[in-house]
Amino acid sequence: MYILVVNAGSSSLKYQLFDMDTKAVMAKGLCECIGIPGGRMKHEALGKLYEVKVDIPTHAEATKMVVEALVNRDYGCIKSMDQISAVGHRIVQGGPWLVESVLVDDDVIKKLERCKDLAPLHTVPHLLGIRGCMAVMPSTPQVLVIDTAFHQTMPEKAYIYPIPYELYEKYSIRRYGFHGTSHRYVSGKCIEYLGGKAEGTKIITCHLGNGSSIAAIKDGKVIDTSMGFTPLDGIIMGSRCGGVDPAIIPFIMEKENIAPKDMQSWMNKKCGLLGVSGVSSDLRELTAAKDSGNERAVLAYDILVYDIKKYIGAYAASLNGVDAIVFTAGIGENNPQVRADVCADMDYMGVKIDPEKNAVGKRLPEPAIISTPDSKVKVFVIMTDEELVIATDTEAVVKMKN
Ligand code: ADP
Repeated sequence: MYILVVNAGSSSLKYQLFDMDTKAVMAKGLCECIGIPGGRMKHEALGKLYEVKVDIPTHAEATKMVVEALVNRDYGCIKSMDQISAVGHRIVQGGPWLVESVLVDDDVIKKLERCKDLAPLHTVPHLLGIRGCMAVMPSTPQVLVIDTAFHQTMPEKAYIYPIPYELYEKYSIRRYGFHGTSHRYVSGKCIEYLGGKAEGTKIITCHLGNGSSIAAIKDGKVIDTSMGFTPLDGIIMGSRCGGVDPAIIPFIMEKENIAPKDMQSWMNKKCGLLGVSGVSSDLRELTAAKDSGNERAVLAYDILVYDIKKYIGAYAASLNGVDAIVFTAGIGENNPQVRADVCADMDYMGVKIDPEKNAVGKRLPEPAIISTPDSKVKVFVIMTDEELVIATDTEAVVKMKN
């Protein structure tokens, strides 16, 4: 069975084609600058690369290009579009309406439409991507796999904000949490490595990328997570502010004369590591500046490490102990320095890192354990694979409906 996984952004469409018998990625690619000048597509299948610069007016047009590339004789990997059994879509925000992976029908589209209010920046492009695929592949089942779904097990005390309760009821303002597909994948792997039984396990997963979130997972279920109503909350991120005193926001709006919708973009794009350092949102560039003595780059880095440490400490308290800490995503998988600095001075918790294993990190044989044998808490580096989760869920949903 072949499953196409689609991740639609406002002007981009990323995709991967999975062969579910082998779980291998047959093809992957990216359409960029959809609906704006500079349209281009990059496609890779079976070791062959195809790149083209061409205007891509709509997401439907992008989907058409993807399908044409997949069936192309020279650089494709399947014979016909009919070989694609289903399409799995990554959905960032499902709100209170979409709480598990689901087959698309009119009712599901209506529910996703409602999420526009909660997360317009993500939901509008998702709908464009889904409608694009439905236009090009009208008889192929479409499945939604939702990033907020894995966090639905949080208790009320973790997801209700201390604002008038009526506003939660009226606008569905609550902590949703994001990166759920990644937290689910790496915590699942971690449970496997801890012996395979979810009951009794206490795990903290640290998804550290451009956007970062940390989750506390008890018995395989999320009990708390750092992102909130939107993916802005929690620790300092590449260019997002993370949690700040809420009074700062209207204060800046007034002083700098910034309108609410511009403030959204300001909080998402001008803050975080970039805002503090003035250098970059990318940790590689930030580290280079830090190593050459840039004091604000040092400060931004120190805030990052401190924030992660604080959440681990808080979640250790929520969980009443920790069996394992998992590092994943761009920074978590590739930056031994961050892992070492986060885990330094955590002997009170019984965390002890083996510096040599930490340096090798994800290239260690599976499971990549970077703690010492006598560390009370096992520390893992686990490569996340959100696309594989989306493909696996899509296959399961389609099979269940048949
Ligand atoms: P996104 O949240 O956009 O998916 P990623 O998970 O790719 O982002 O993480 C991006 C961050 O990870 C950047 O700060 C980058 O510096 C860091 N990163 C990604 N790949 C590497 C690598 N190979 N080595 C070191 N740092 C990396």
